[in-house]
Amino acid sequence: MNRMKPFLIVLALLLACLPARADGNKKTILCTTFPIFQITRNVVSGNSAVTVQLMLPAALGCPHDYALTPQDMQKIARADVLIVNGLGMEEYLGAPVKKANPDLKVVDSSAGIKEILRYAGQDDHEEADRQEHDHDQHGGVNPHLFTSPRLAGRLAMNIAAELAELDPAGAATFLANAKAYEEKMQKLADDFSALGKRLGNNRIVTQHGVFDYLARDMGLEVVAVVQAHAGQEPSAAEMLRIVKIIREKKAGGIFTEPQYPAKVGQTIARETGVAVATLDPGASGPENGPLDYYETVMRHNMLVLGKTLGAK
Ligand SMILES: [Zn+2]
Repeated sequence: MNRMKPFLIVLALLLACLPARADGNKKTILCTTFPIFQITRNVVSGNSAVTVQLMLPAALGCPHDYALTPQDMQKIARADVLIVNGLGMEEYLGAPVKKANPDLKVVDSSAGIKEILRYAGQDDHEEADRQEHDHDQHGGVNPHLFTSPRLAGRLAMNIAAELAELDPAGAATFLANAKAYEEKMQKLADDFSALGKRLGNNRIVTQHGVFDYLARDMGLEVVAVVQAHAGQEPSAAEMLRIVKIIREKKAGGIFTEPQYPAKVGQTIARETGVAVATLDPGASGPENGPLDYYETVMRHNMLVLGKTLGAK
């Protein structure tokens, strides 16, 4: 027994030196983007054994062309689980993340969803050009599943299933919450589909490719996008092309986003005489806002779409 004593003392010292987690034994679930954070907050609601954090700034919007900051790396180092949008939205995640936290479990919320779109509103030449440039990134795959309420429900179910495996004690809560959330999203999606059938004009122009999945749900055609590359203003030649398409296709509305400057969209609207309005994809929002923030934003979008596109 005496030979064990030094060993036990060393063990006790080692245990005392382990870094304590900020919330005791709580598991920390980190989400990359605001939409995934919102969905995850709904999934874990009522379970006090986990905390959910947002990695990127809540006001950022889509993290296209984003680079990780030291603060992001600190959050990654402290997290147990990282939930990502997937489909190329998190191109900034790579080897440094694995190094910062080799035990981190990464959950891809889009895993298993088959109805993936390529970006809409680009002609063949542009699409080929984009694929060439984005070859190492996402090859033209559109990662914005979250603007479709129907898919938002699926994302919740995916996240719940993964979390249930990681934390069996919370499984029942996660799965019940996700089921309730999915039902709410189905109702929202049904309302969007019904509106789509009542619109006088179903041809739209968007700021970037963020609404393609919602457009598909509603039977809308995205005839052009203002920013073929998110965050990058169109060139003079691209502007002319967009104006030409809008006239040819007789688009019913140009929709800017709160996350990007509206100036170019407004200029195109003036040039073509087409109505312009703002649609919020919910890519940003209040970090500690209400759990139904997404639904509120989307119901407002429904009103804007109806008004702009002439709901009958
Ligand atoms: Zn985006």
